[in-house]
Amino acid sequence: MHNTKYVFVTGGVTSSLGKGIIAASLAKLLQERGYSVTIQKLDPYINIDPGTLNPYEHGECYVTDDGAETDLDLGHYERFLNIPTSQANNVTTGRIYQSVINKERRGEFLGKTVQVIPHITDEIKRRIQRLGKTGKFDIVITEIGGTVGDIESLPYVESVRQLQWELGQENAIVIHLTLVPYLAAAGELKTKPTQHSVKMLMQSGVAPNILVCRTEHEINDNIKRKLALFCNVKTQDVIQSIDAETIYDVPNLMFDEGLDRVVLEKLQLSSEKQPKLIAWNQFLRKHKNPKSTIEIALIGKYVELHDSYKSITEAFIHAGATNETKVKVRWIHSEELTPENVLGKLKGVNGILVAPGFGERGIEGKIKAVQYAREQNIPFLGICLGMQMAVIEYARNVLGLAAANSTEMDLKTKNPVIDLMEEQKTITDKGGTMRLGAWDCKLDKNSKVFDAYKTAMISERHRHRYEFNNQYFDALTKAGLKATGVNPDTGLVEIIELPNHPWFVGVQYHPEYKSTVLNPHPLFVSFVKAALEQSV
Ligand code: GLN
Repeated sequence: MHNTKYVFVTGGVTSSLGKGIIAASLAKLLQERGYSVTIQKLDPYINIDPGTLNPYEHGECYVTDDGAETDLDLGHYERFLNIPTSQANNVTTGRIYQSVINKERRGEFLGKTVQVIPHITDEIKRRIQRLGKTGKFDIVITEIGGTVGDIESLPYVESVRQLQWELGQENAIVIHLTLVPYLAAAGELKTKPTQHSVKMLMQSGVAPNILVCRTEHEINDNIKRKLALFCNVKTQDVIQSIDAETIYDVPNLMFDEGLDRVVLEKLQLSSEKQPKLIAWNQFLRKHKNPKSTIEIALIGKYVELHDSYKSITEAFIHAGATNETKVKVRWIHSEELTPENVLGKLKGVNGILVAPGFGERGIEGKIKAVQYAREQNIPFLGICLGMQMAVIEYARNVLGLAAANSTEMDLKTKNPVIDLMEEQKTITDKGGTMRLGAWDCKLDKNSKVFDAYKTAMISERHRHRYEFNNQYFDALTKAGLKATGVNPDTGLVEIIELPNHPWFVGVQYHPEYKSTVLNPHPLFVSFVKAALEQSV
C-alpha cells in the first residue's frame, strides 16, 4: 500500500501569518524534489463553504474544477504547485458536522450518543486521510485554519494528536507557525508569545516538530537556541521566515533555511534530490526586473479589501512577468464612479478590468467604466459580472435599448439582455447552487481569444446564475458585438468581443482561477500585452 506521509501546519500568536504561503512554499520544494504533494485547508467556521460569505469577511471565494467554492488559500496552492485542487482540499466545520448529523439521521451510529470525541474527530481524520488514500500523493500537507487556542480549533488539534499517535511521528509531523515580534522601544525580538502558543498546543497533547517563526528582523542563533530550548525542539528545527518582497520568494527563503530538508528528515524520506526551481526562478527574475510599467484600473465594489480580488491580482503578476512588465493596479470603487468623474478617475490607465460581483450596488459605475473603455479604445477585460455589464452597456448605448439590464438588478426590466439561467429558476437555496466549476467553451477562430489561447476548445471555471440572453443574440450581433466563445452543448454565450476595438473581451467565466506561476493565463497575458502596446 502507498504510504502517504502527513504534514500539519498550525498557527499561533495571531492570524494572518501566512500559513497558506508557508504550506504552499514547502509543498513546492517537496514537489521540486520529486515528491507528489497536495495541500488541504481545514477551516474552523460553521459555514458549509465560503460560497455564501461576503468577500469582506474572508476575501475571494476560490472555485475549483469540480465546482467547489473554497478558501482563497487553495488559489495559492494551485498557483504554486501548478496542479488542480478539488472539493477534498477544503473542509469546514460546517461540512464535518453536516456529514456527522446526516449519518446520525440515517441511524448509522446504532443508538450511540453522538459526541465531538470520537464522532467529530473521526470525521475530521477521515477527511484528512481522504486525499492520502487516493494513492496519488506521497505527502499531504494539511493547513489548520485559525489560531491555536481558539475554541473552534480544538477538535482539529485533537484530531492531529490522534493521527500522529496512530500513524507514528515518522509519518505525521506538525509544523507550528508563530510570530516573533520586534519591540522597537526595547530593540529586541521577543520569544515569549511563541513559547505561550507552543505551551497551548502542548496542553492539547500536540508537541510541534518544527517551528516556523515569522519575523521582521533576522533571528540570530541565540534566539533560535532559546526558542528551541523552551519549545522542546532542536535548534535546526527553528526556521526563520522573514518578511519577503513577494510571496513568490518564500520557497527560496524556506530552502535557504532548510525547511524542506528537516521535514524530509523527520518523515524519513530521502532528501538527496535537490529542488532546482528553474522555471520558478526564471519567472521571479522577470517579475523583479520589469522593462516597463503599465497601469490597469480594477473596478469593483469590494476594493477596500484587496484579497477580494486575490486571483486577479496574482494573474496580473504572472502575466506581467511574461510580458516583462510591472502591472500596477489602480483600485477604483464602482460606487464612486459617476458620469461626471469617470474621465478623471480613469485618465491615463492602459487597461480596464471590470470585476466579478453580485447584486445591484455599484453597477452603474461599472457600466460607465465599460463605456469609457469602449469609446476611448482602451483594452478591456470584463469578468463574469464585468462581461454582463459590457453586454448591458452595448445594448443601452449602441443598440439604443435604454432599459437594458440584468434581471439580477431589475426583475421587471423591458430588455433583460442578461437573464437568470433556465435551470436556476426553481432554485431557492443560496449555498452551492450556482453554475459552478469547469465547463467547455468553443472559440471562434477569428477572434482575440483564439489568438490568445491558440486552441479552439477550452475549459474554464464558472460561478454565476445569470447569463447572456440569447433572445438578443441577433440584435446585438448585428450591432457589432460578437459572441466568440459558446458552450458547445448548451449554446450559452461565454465570451463577447468587439472586433472594431483594439482589445475588448468579456468572459462569463473566471480565467483568473487558472493562472499559475508556471502557466500564466493566456487571456491575462494577451490583455497585458494589449495594454502595453497601447501605452507606447
Ligand atoms: N452576479 C452575476 C451572476 O450571478 C455574476 C457573478 C459573478 O461575477 N461571479 O451571474
